[in-house]
Amino acid sequence: MIKSTDLQQRLMGLLGPTAVITEGSDLEPYAVDWRKLFPGRPACVVRPSSTEQVAQIVRICREAGAAIVPQGGNTGLAGGAVPDASGTQVVLSLNRMAAIRNVDSVGLTIEAEAGCVLKVAQDAAAAVGRLLPISLAAEGSATIGGVVAANAGGVNVLRYGMTRSLVLGLEVVLPDGTIANGLRKLRKDNAGYDWKQIFIGSEGTLGIVTAAVLRLLPRPKHSVTALLSVADPAAALRLLELAQDELGDQISAFELISATSMQLVAKHAGLKAPIAEGEWFVLIEAASSLAGLREAAEMMLGSAFEQEIALDGVIAESGSQAAQLWALHEHVTESEAREGKSVKHDVSVPLTEVPRFLIEAGRALAEGAPGTRVNAFGHLGDGNIHYNVLVDASHDAGTVNRIVHDVVAAFGGSISAEHGIGQYRVGELARYRGAAEMDLARTLKRALDPENLLNPGKVLLA
Ligand SMILES: Cc1cc2nc3c(=O)[nH]c(=O)nc-3n(C[C@H](O)[C@H](O)[C@H](O)COP(=O)(O)OP(=O)(O)OC[C@H]3O[C@@H](n4cnc5c(N)ncnc54)[C@H](O)[C@@H]3O)c2cc1C
Repeated sequence: MIKSTDLQQRLMGLLGPTAVITEGSDLEPYAVDWRKLFPGRPACVVRPSSTEQVAQIVRICREAGAAIVPQGGNTGLAGGAVPDASGTQVVLSLNRMAAIRNVDSVGLTIEAEAGCVLKVAQDAAAAVGRLLPISLAAEGSATIGGVVAANAGGVNVLRYGMTRSLVLGLEVVLPDGTIANGLRKLRKDNAGYDWKQIFIGSEGTLGIVTAAVLRLLPRPKHSVTALLSVADPAAALRLLELAQDELGDQISAFELISATSMQLVAKHAGLKAPIAEGEWFVLIEAASSLAGLREAAEMMLGSAFEQEIALDGVIAESGSQAAQLWALHEHVTESEAREGKSVKHDVSVPLTEVPRFLIEAGRALAEGAPGTRVNAFGHLGDGNIHYNVLVDASHDAGTVNRIVHDVVAAFGGSISAEHGIGQYRVGELARYRGAAEMDLARTLKRALDPENLLNPGKVLLA
């Protein structure tokens, strides 16, 4: 182990003094996560400008025995991108490696460096009439490397899958400083193990993503957005089935919003749903390049009323009305924060179990944590519910977590649908994953990072 000042000197020698931040307020944005739950203290922050520099940083840190925490836009919700409080971990920010290297409108690919902001990549695709369908509220700050490392979801998973399904090629710096270049643009490639898969969703614990090739799609020319109210989540599921019958694979988003979420948005953001109040709301978006989408959506709405699945509903007449409907959804998290303290859960259960899960989790909380209120919303089309519990000082967050996650487990669900494990859920994972699965994960980690120098304390405890 070499002294931290010697390490800083060596890193400055490699990158130049301005690309190594060692003290002062410049460190702060890199030291704490977006939700400010995990304040850390880095030894320093390094900002390389090339893959070769990333590889050299890894080699220098390895010689010094210093751990590295990869960081993109630092919008992750699991505390994965920030260092611990020891003052010994080096934050490796990819934000200077932000180039878009290539957009291919015929081959339908985009190659970008890890620090490229997701919105910038989306816009580059849109400029040539193509679609990069990864879409989330943090897209103005989240980076391609972070999105890949987190296997991000978002609102379009129903149609296009998680980030994993869009990654064609990756360039990764391994924990020993080797550069693995798999930046291929191939849709078919069965030549050996598909090793890139283990880095997607590994949250910076197995390698540092330096660039990626992502799949693009033709950009749909038409889209419709509708908001409907329903009596309960079971009716919302029947609506999903109906929408799939009427709109087929053109549905890109199917979001569930509870009455509590709508009330919070009305109270704190001053936004109100333009339809009669219901217990639950569903926001649907569909997109297509073929004409007739709106007519199909109107038919779907008509059938939903006829079959008494929907209580009320509206289809946006314009882009700005569609944005107003989406604004209701986008303000839920912020409104919840203004209401007070909450214990958040990002869970998934098999799609058809969502209604029963919501009933059982509500019942378990009423028994085990009386006085809590549930703010549930999320990507119903993916079986992914953000099941947030509003608490007061009398409630214990650990108890609330345990109650909700035990119900999730009873339904064969996951305690992290899209936000990852990071340090937020690292203590809980072993309770819900079998010993063999945990051993397999440790075997993989040890094989690639035997010294546990890449993002230690995240995803897996040593
Ligand atoms: C308002 C808001 C809404 C969000 N909505 C969604 C949503 O709908 N769906 C969803 O899935 N997520 C969502 N997120 C979470 C977050 O935006 C995503 O996980 C995103 O992918 C993180 O990207 P980032 O660049 O900010 O990564 P960071 O936060 O910097 O890092 C995330 C993880 O990846 C690792 N990492 C980052 N870059 C690299 C790299 N180049 N190589 C290796 N490891 C790396 C970090 O160490 C960390 O473990 C939301 C966040 C916010 C704040």
